[in-house]
Amino acid sequence: MKNLLLASALILGSSLGFAGRVDIHPQAFDPGGWKVDVQFMDVMGSAYLLAHGNGIRCLDAKAVANIPESGEWRVYVRSRSWVEGAGAFKVKVGGKILDGTFGVTQSEWAWEDGGVVALEKGTIGISLVDCDGFAGRCAGVVFVKDGDAPEGPLSIESANVDETIETDFAIVGGGVPGVTAALAAARRGVKTAIIQDRPVLGGNASAEIRVWSAGEARYDIVREVRGWFMNGEGDMKVSDLNRMRIVQDEENLTAVLSTRVFAAEKNPDGSIASVKALDWKRNKIVRIKAKLFCDATGDGWLGYYAGADWRMGREAGAEFGEKYAPEKADSQTLGASLMWTSAEANTDMPFSAPWAEKHACGIKALQGGWDWEYGIRNDVIAEGEHVRDRLLLAVYGSFSLAKKDPGNARKILRFVPFVLAKRESRRLMGDWIFKESDVAEKRPFEDAIASGSWSIDLHYDDAIKGVDFITTCRQPHFGRYYIPYRSIYSRNIPNLFMVGRCFSCTHVGLGSPRVINTLAQLGVAAGEAVALCFKYDCKPRDIYTKGHYRELQDLLGGEFPGRPDPRLKGWAIVDDETPDVVFFKGNWERKHNPNGEQVGDESTFAKKGAISAEYKLPVERPGRYALKMRVPYSPFVKHPSSTQIEIMSNGAKKIIKVDQTEKMGEWREIGVFELEKGSTLTINAKESKGTIIADGFAVVLQ
Ligand SMILES: Cc1cc2nc3c(=O)[nH]c(=O)nc-3n(C[C@H](O)[C@H](O)[C@H](O)COP(=O)(O)OP(=O)(O)OC[C@H]3O[C@@H](n4cnc5c(N)ncnc54)[C@H](O)[C@@H]3O)c2cc1C
Repeated sequence: MKNLLLASALILGSSLGFAGRVDIHPQAFDPGGWKVDVQFMDVMGSAYLLAHGNGIRCLDAKAVANIPESGEWRVYVRSRSWVEGAGAFKVKVGGKILDGTFGVTQSEWAWEDGGVVALEKGTIGISLVDCDGFAGRCAGVVFVKDGDAPEGPLSIESANVDETIETDFAIVGGGVPGVTAALAAARRGVKTAIIQDRPVLGGNASAEIRVWSAGEARYDIVREVRGWFMNGEGDMKVSDLNRMRIVQDEENLTAVLSTRVFAAEKNPDGSIASVKALDWKRNKIVRIKAKLFCDATGDGWLGYYAGADWRMGREAGAEFGEKYAPEKADSQTLGASLMWTSAEANTDMPFSAPWAEKHACGIKALQGGWDWEYGIRNDVIAEGEHVRDRLLLAVYGSFSLAKKDPGNARKILRFVPFVLAKRESRRLMGDWIFKESDVAEKRPFEDAIASGSWSIDLHYDDAIKGVDFITTCRQPHFGRYYIPYRSIYSRNIPNLFMVGRCFSCTHVGLGSPRVINTLAQLGVAAGEAVALCFKYDCKPRDIYTKGHYRELQDLLGGEFPGRPDPRLKGWAIVDDETPDVVFFKGNWERKHNPNGEQVGDESTFAKKGAISAEYKLPVERPGRYALKMRVPYSPFVKHPSSTQIEIMSNGAKKIIKVDQTEKMGEWREIGVFELEKGSTLTINAKESKGTIIADGFAVVLQ
């Protein structure tokens, strides 16, 4: 229908839907200060422009239309009123502002009649003029000469393809797990493309959203590209730049950014042949052909387009024997968030959003963290725009209330994301559905490819009575567990992997591995498995059924159930949790570490009043031994330590000082010593400074 001539016309910025009609797609605009919002396009039918200025009016978005004949044309503007009292904008055609105000009447997306304008044949400029900086939105402009009003969105579904990219492995979705999959495959020589709908890589971990990368990061690639800052910190931009640089440097890897995949094309055997995507920055339709694909979209979009089996919502407890699941299945998921911050300007800054105040449920706030969460009871895909908007109302309303306090006169909104941070939606089904007991009972999977030690972190919306946008979490801990390879390939699409939060799991099963570093391990495993698929000319499932998973574990490195880490051959390890071997004096605290990477399940931190931790070293015969140390990586430890370690052997004491904050999470050598049976190692907390941690030590005969 309206997109018949879209492909050629898109390049000009406008398309002739049919004689007497000119379509201006939202992605044909130079957005100026508006944002091109593609996150809900599968649901509402197109991209749109969002005037996300947090109360400061956005610079005009501009496009050029090619008018085929002179005469009177009726202008239609696609918009919606997202809240009563804000979101208005004007439209300028050929330098003249139309009479109407848009975005203030209908609550659902629809075409608003902008009246008739007299236009000359040739090109004219169109501008969207934001009235208030509060999320006004426009999904296109259409000029009609003697015809009917347009119906429905300016869809691109039937648009012609402008460009084709051919590759061996294509990953859709550029969160950290997508990036690790891409790097792992590319570094094994596989021609790889990663397609990401944002201009930056990182997904929730990017500076567009600012989620802290937590969980075990056992593979080097994860450490290379994870974020380095805590929730909400603007410095995430630095991690983004690092990630982008690493990807750009990779010879076999093409990053296709600002490009949203919207369809999958299949081969006769049911496998995926190619995907179609909108490059919304260049306004082009791109086809990406590949032999193997990976869904890293978080929402399972690629699997959904391809017809992969998926689930969404909470399973009934009885289905998988899950204690933390509800008795009856329902459609609830973890909710979505906008983590926002404010800053202090050096002069008074006006801010008032009275229309939002009633949506703040009485909360006055200057910032909002992970618990500003909504949508647990909504479908975060079908109602994603509503969920995001409800959170925007909470932010603007509570900030507007806080601004009434004269002490907050200089406060200004520093950062409010417009990209919704989602925790859970579709989960694609593999040959194994990872579940609560896999975490709680630490099932020793023969095909383990990743490990985690985060709690089963489930969220509930019963935090504050009468407030629907603040949640609470309950977090039972179980220590280290493993995730099997069978959970990262689709059970019914033969060439599809899935990594990130859409891997194969139950709602409760996702509760622990859903942290970024742990999910990014799945990415590394998928990338390495892709290399094996090419080596053996086989499908993802064959890596398991034909026994190649042992080779996959070799490629990944480290220890797995029933397979000790070959790099630690000949090492004798002692850990703070080993009974009758380590003796603590004074005040120490055993802790689970949010990012894992410790030896064993936990480690022990010196508290005020800690005296010493004495280890019996596992030495059987006298000799010269390298002494290795490992403590968990902790994002909270920012200052160097000076930890006094005393080695007692042959009646002599050797004292060394070590900075435990160096190479946290990795084994490092701290010296070579003559040791004998009965030698001991003591952390002398009283003579140490900074964060002092008792975790793992190893001796290796030289
Ligand atoms: C508020 C909040 C707080 C959290 N706190 C923590 C925490 O403290 N620590 C932690 O480790 N984890 C935390 N999490 C969980 C963690 O952020 C997610 O589990 C993780 O980011 C999932 O990674 P992902 O790559 O699967 O998805 P995402 O990070 O969502 O990345 C997927 C990417 O794919 C893109 N995409 C989607 N569809 C398409 C398409 N069709 N075409 C192209 N690209 C597409 C998306 O834009 C996105 O950039 C939190 C989550 C939220 C929401």
